[in-house]
Amino acid sequence: MFLALLKFHADLAIGGYNERVKEEPVKRIGILTSGGDAPGMNAAIRAVVRTGIYHGYEMIGIERGYHGLIDDTMVPMNSRSVSEILQRGGTILKTARCTAFNSVEGVQRAVETLRRRNIDAVIVIGGDGTFRGAQDLHDAGVTTVAIPGTIDNDLGYTDLTIGFDTAITTVMESVSKLRDTSSSHERMFVVEVMGRNCGDIALFAGLISGAEEVIVPEMEFSLPEIAERVNKGMQGGKSHFIILVAEGATDPYEFTKELERLTQINTRLAVIGHLQRGGSPSATDRLLATRMGARAIEELRIGSSGVAIGLRGNVLTAKPIAEALAVRDRLSMELYRLAEILAR
Ligand code: ATP
Repeated sequence: MFLALLKFHADLAIGGYNERVKEEPVKRIGILTSGGDAPGMNAAIRAVVRTGIYHGYEMIGIERGYHGLIDDTMVPMNSRSVSEILQRGGTILKTARCTAFNSVEGVQRAVETLRRRNIDAVIVIGGDGTFRGAQDLHDAGVTTVAIPGTIDNDLGYTDLTIGFDTAITTVMESVSKLRDTSSSHERMFVVEVMGRNCGDIALFAGLISGAEEVIVPEMEFSLPEIAERVNKGMQGGKSHFIILVAEGATDPYEFTKELERLTQINTRLAVIGHLQRGGSPSATDRLLATRMGARAIEELRIGSSGVAIGLRGNVLTAKPIAEALAVRDRLSMELYRLAEILAR
């Protein structure tokens, strides 16, 4: 009866889906951050730990992503372990890319570590690679919940990932400074931003900082056409040009050289690089991380496993990780078109 009630509650909470109701209630929960770090990961850790403790769970911090499960490096966490981290960038648990985990033997070792430590469930915070690892753990019988933490915003099932808002704010602030010098020197700046194969950072940051052009991996571009638009803009009285280029779209060095050749305008390349990963998380990222962290614990309370927390509209969602990963990430054509309109 109790389990049936639990399941009913689960269906209510996650829109009719419940992958597995565990026979044994979860008592001890591990948490890890993996892949590239993202501002707001600490806020998520804090929310997970404190919500977990509130509901009577023991909380364990697993260090350096999946390495911590292979090497058995973990620390017990209490409320004080997560004091003063809400506003801090990076992740107090450290993060890493762990190739040793990407094998049957690696997953087996991780499962053995978890059994030895009596850890019943693992909450992971990271990007798509981290999610695949969580799916492997789930398939091996470990209860898992995944939280999207990556500056790239490259997970199609969720409107936002933790860290994205802070990253585009950093780009916006950098572009604002570059614009001053661009105007003074009548110079053009090509600004390379992160995002791997996803153009969201370039597109969103381009929109909020008034970039003249946004080059993203999802859309083809023509350098001669860009050069023509730049020349027309110059003739029309524009004194500055900012072109945002997503890292996965083209070689920014070649792009800059060729654009300078075609326009005959002094053109500089600015690579913002890892500055985009750091810094205190924005209000949006803190709130998102806090809500998602608490929801991850709620999912464990109702017996879910193998689920990914997401955001649609302003509503938190939980869906099977495999389903979440299968949703193709698409660039918003509406915003892309808007960026084109507003840049003229
Ligand atoms: P970001 O988007 O910031 O790069 P990410 O989570 O996608 O974050 P990855 O380096 O791709 O970062 O993955 C992080 C870790 O997840 C890897 O080091 C590895 O331990 C695990 N992982 C990645 N891909 C897989 C996979 N296919 N199967 C199992 N585990 C994986």
